[in-house]
Amino acid sequence: MLKGKVAVVTGGTRGIGYAVVRKYLENGAKVVLFGSRAETVEKALASLKAENPDWVVEGASPDLSDAAQVAKVIENVKEKYGRLDILVNNAGVSDSTKVDDYDPVQFEKVMKLNVNAIFYAVQPAVKIMKEQGGGCILNTSSMVSISGQPSGVAYPTSKFAVNGLTLSLARELGPSNIRVNAVAPGVTKTDMVAALPDAMIQPLIQTIPLRRVGEPEEVANAFLFLASDMASYVTGEVLSVDGAARA
Ligand code: NAD
Repeated sequence: MLKGKVAVVTGGTRGIGYAVVRKYLENGAKVVLFGSRAETVEKALASLKAENPDWVVEGASPDLSDAAQVAKVIENVKEKYGRLDILVNNAGVSDSTKVDDYDPVQFEKVMKLNVNAIFYAVQPAVKIMKEQGGGCILNTSSMVSISGQPSGVAYPTSKFAVNGLTLSLARELGPSNIRVNAVAPGVTKTDMVAALPDAMIQPLIQTIPLRRVGEPEEVANAFLFLASDMASYVTGEVLSVDGAARA
C-alpha cells in the first residue's frame, strides 16, 4: 500500500510509533524513525533488521525541542531519498499530575514535545512536500482530545491542540495536495499500559465498550490507511481507534 513512499516517524522506537514503522515497512515504504536516544534507536533498528534484513529503515535522534536540528534531519532525508511522502508526528509524553501539584515547567515540557515539536517537523516537511507536489502529514492525538481527563491537564490540552493544528493545516495545505490527519488512540497496550497492575486495568476495561485495550498494531492500521491512496480524499480527520472509550 505504500510502495516507493518515504516516511519519517517520530517516536518510532517503541509502542505505537514502532508498530507504525513496522506496518509501513511491511507495506513497502522506506522509513526513517526518530527516537529520543541513539541507543534506543539502534535497538529498534536491530530488531526491525532481524525481522527482515531487506527493509529499508534507518534512524536518527534529533532533539525535538530544537527546530533547526529537526529541520536539518528532515532535509537530510530528502537529500538521501529524493523525497518525503509521509511525516508521522507520534512522539509524545503523557501526564497525570493534579492541578495543585503542577510545576509550570512540567506543563511546558508536555506542551513542547506534544505540540511545538510537531510544528518544528511540519515546517521543513511542508517545504519538501510542496516542491514535490504533495504529501501526507499524520499526528498522534488521543481519545482525551475529545473527552478531556481528570488529571494531568497539560496532556489533554496538548492533544486538543494537536487536533486544532491538524484541522487547520488540512485547510491551509489542501490546495498544495498535502493531506493532514490525526489518529486518536484509546488505551493502547504499549509498555506503560502492559505494566499496569490488573487491579488498575480491569476497572478501566469495564468503561470501554469493546471491553479490552487496543493493540499498537490496531492503531498502526489506521496510520496505514490514512497514509495510503485508499485515503486520497480524507483530510482534516481525527480518526478514533479506541473501542469507543471516548464516549
Ligand atoms: P511510548 O512511551 O511507548 O513511546 C513514546 C515514543 O516517543 C518513544 O519512541 C520515545 O523515543 C519518543 N519520545 C518520548 N519523549 C521524547 C522526547 N523528549 N524527544 C524525542 N522523542 C521522545 O508511548 P506510546 O504509548 O507509544 O505513545 C505514542 C503516542 O501515542 C504519544 O503521542 C501518545 O500521547 C499517544 N497515545 C498513546 C496512548 C496509549 O495508551 N499508549 C493513548 C493515546 C495516545
